[in-house]
Amino acid sequence: MTRRRVGLFLTEEEKFDVIIVGAGPAGSACAYILAREGKSVLVIERGDTPGAKNVTGGRLYTYALELLDQGLHEEAALERKVIREQIMMLSGDRAITIDYHDPSFNEEGRPPMSYTILRGVFDEWLAGKAEEMGAMVACGIRVDELIERDGRIVGVVAGEDEMYADVVIAADGVNSFMAQRAGLIEDIKAETVAVGIKEVIELPAKTIEERFNLREGQGAARLILGCTEGIHGGGFLYTNKDSISLGCVFMPEEAGQKKKSVHEIFQDVKMHPSIYPLIEGGETIEYGAHLVSEAGFRGIPKKLFREGFLMVGDAAGFVINTGYSIRGIDLAIVSGIAAARAVIGAEGTAAAGPLYMEELKKIKLLPTMQAQDGFSDILETAWLYDKVPDLAADVFENLFTVTGEVPGSVKKDVMRLIRSNDLSAWQFIKLGFKGMRAL
Ligand SMILES: Cc1cc2nc3c(=O)[nH]c(=O)nc-3n(C[C@H](O)[C@H](O)[C@H](O)COP(=O)(O)OP(=O)(O)OC[C@H]3O[C@@H](n4cnc5c(N)ncnc54)[C@H](O)[C@@H]3O)c2cc1C
Repeated sequence: MTRRRVGLFLTEEEKFDVIIVGAGPAGSACAYILAREGKSVLVIERGDTPGAKNVTGGRLYTYALELLDQGLHEEAALERKVIREQIMMLSGDRAITIDYHDPSFNEEGRPPMSYTILRGVFDEWLAGKAEEMGAMVACGIRVDELIERDGRIVGVVAGEDEMYADVVIAADGVNSFMAQRAGLIEDIKAETVAVGIKEVIELPAKTIEERFNLREGQGAARLILGCTEGIHGGGFLYTNKDSISLGCVFMPEEAGQKKKSVHEIFQDVKMHPSIYPLIEGGETIEYGAHLVSEAGFRGIPKKLFREGFLMVGDAAGFVINTGYSIRGIDLAIVSGIAAARAVIGAEGTAAAGPLYMEELKKIKLLPTMQAQDGFSDILETAWLYDKVPDLAADVFENLFTVTGEVPGSVKKDVMRLIRSNDLSAWQFIKLGFKGMRAL
């Protein structure tokens, strides 16, 4: 794949139909559809290759690729089909793992529900597909500024170069500099984002399959609670073909108040007696950190467009965190498709923005985010991150301890353990109520 790396001097007459800033999943999906429909598209990416600067836990829901083109998942750069969904709670050296195994997630005749992915490989593949459709992908170039004429965005500036287009699409990720320059978002607020750190640990495929009880090509996705020293956040673990992606997500403000650094907390997670055996003998081949939006539906900016300008993916705040799953890559792809459809369908640049909002509803992105908004209330509950895993482990310890003494009443024991963890039944009733509302 050849990519232009140097300046593209263009005049206002010699413009593209669309310039997309960022070759993540949102930008490349958008470019794919636009180029397929005959639009001239330039994608500008600051990384040396697409995905070079991107960090993700590592799971993609397949429906998004199918929306891009039917059957695309069969040739995509994917790792393992997820058939085991796991939730793990850590309390000191103790651990509880809930393992939901569903073979129908990988049933013959329909695409598997989700795959684990490695972003370096996946992003490069998707950008390549956009190029196959006719888009131009220029890597190693950072866009510094937008060009505005009479209230309309008409192009971008990168270093010495000016490049023009009918529409500029901001696909530059969380804390979008482009959206800030367009005056559509303000500087990011610390409480609306978390910091994710992640390692990719190389291991033979057979070892991964034995440790996670998987067959060839099958994968596991695990969310981990109780691994952040009480900081809002959690851990994740995904099995790739011959590596494991392991990481933690922390709210930066709270992390700053702890005695341990996030790096030290993450090292403790790796050494936990129930985690270490899963990664033992592996070699760390990648280490990265990235911001992830935590605000959900209520974090979406009031306006996602201006004349000649649209925002997609993380730039538009399209991430759903339910606590048991995190979705951003599929929403990035879907919003890229919606933006492309709006640009193709609009008569004149002024019509593209309102049409984009309609397409976001039609493609079910905004309704999905709205439907899952209540999870943000649950995740705000501070004691979820330490006291709940401690209490759950205490309850399990109680259940599985046999000493020969006459066992007490389970109900009384649970109430005693709730109190000994500085909690009350009322707090659980309130959380249950929030949970019902979220569902
Ligand atoms: C730790 C962590 C775990 C996650 N786990 C998951 C998961 O398992 N599943 C899931 O669906 N989502 C997950 N997410 C969220 C997901 O990664 C994002 O939602 C997704 O990457 C958004 O895609 P995007 O294309 O909008 O932005 P990005 O992937 O961030 O891509 C933006 C691109 O723009 C480029 N860029 C930025 N500024 C400029 C500029 N000025 N000029 C040129 N190029 C520029 C960047 O280099 C980058 O390539 C996770 C996020 C984190 C941080």
